[in-house]
Amino acid sequence: MKKVALTGDRPTGNLHLGHLVGSLKSRVEMQNSFDQYIMLADVQALTDYFEKPQKIVDNVLEVIADYLAVGIDPKLSTIFIQSQIPELSELTMYYMNLVSLGRLERNPTVKAEIALRKFGESVPTGFLCYPISQASDITAFKAEVVPVGEDQLPMIELSNEIVRKFNRIYHTDCLKESAAHLSKTTRLVGIDGKAKASKSLNNAIFLSDSPDIIKQKVQAMYTDPGHVKISDPGTVKGNVVFAYLDAFYDEEEEISLLKKKYAQGGLGDTTLKSLLNDTLQKLLQPIREKRESLNKKDLLQICFCGTQKAKSVAKKTLFEVKSAIGINFFDKNLSDSN
Ligand code: ATP
Ligand code: MG
Repeated sequence: MKKVALTGDRPTGNLHLGHLVGSLKSRVEMQNSFDQYIMLADVQALTDYFEKPQKIVDNVLEVIADYLAVGIDPKLSTIFIQSQIPELSELTMYYMNLVSLGRLERNPTVKAEIALRKFGESVPTGFLCYPISQASDITAFKAEVVPVGEDQLPMIELSNEIVRKFNRIYHTDCLKESAAHLSKTTRLVGIDGKAKASKSLNNAIFLSDSPDIIKQKVQAMYTDPGHVKISDPGTVKGNVVFAYLDAFYDEEEEISLLKKKYAQGGLGDTTLKSLLNDTLQKLLQPIREKRESLNKKDLLQICFCGTQKAKSVAKKTLFEVKSAIGINFFDKNLSDSN
């Protein structure tokens, strides 16, 4: 039996280079050896986009197009839509009893996101609770591995706490703990130098960006404001161009030499940016072409089939969870409930 892997993305916009290095590449590598589930987290996205549902609706197929374009194969990975599996929300109800408000408020990723979204005192309850719904997504599929960026580590920690508490209180072993699978680049910086490239901040190079846009974005990247003349010594730390070369340029030795030369003085930003632009153009061209060849009807069919399969798995886990609590009043076994 293959181990299960699960991840998801909020359909809040097209996917970008941060997703590619933080999670998508691992998913492509893992799809042969894992029973892999990939979720369009539309319920989660609505926790902060509830006033703009159309944005989420429109982006579901966009994100699926990104998946296929980078090499996720729907024959090997099950792609599904969160909102179409109410069993996941039902699990969340039972897990909510196991998590204190204080525990949710201390989650560092959620704290940073609340500040970014300027919720102030009016944090939507659904938003604060989304890490609990993530625990439902992970445990519903008994995922052991979750290929994510480092912002997701607190979520996996909470999910494991819920698993341990549930199994202890209800004398069961039906829920499984999971572990994050981190890639080499656990957090890609934004093109503006901000800590994380993200859809919400619109500070990323998207997988669907045109060659011109990619070039413009590379040219606008933050380097070292003190590096005016080519001969000036430059700073490598915090230099976005080097951060992207580290993530996308395969020749590590060449990069070390370039860093040395830049720090000493004698290497211009234009040369460096042109190397990065060439690298990214080469990387993104086939992805963009594959993306453009896809049609919406096929994408919808892919996630329809994936959702059917995922639903039957989530239903089984929910049955086990309710059995452990003792509230399967009418369904004594799963076949009765079908
Ligand atoms: P939003 O701004 O709507 O939250 P996002 O860009 O943060 O969008 P998510 O859908 O929240 O993207 O994240 C999906 C996955 O991609 C997660 O596993 C997350 O860790 C990973 N990820 C997102 N941004 C980055 C990044 N800059 N570097 C590495 N991994 C990332
Ligand atoms: Mg995010």
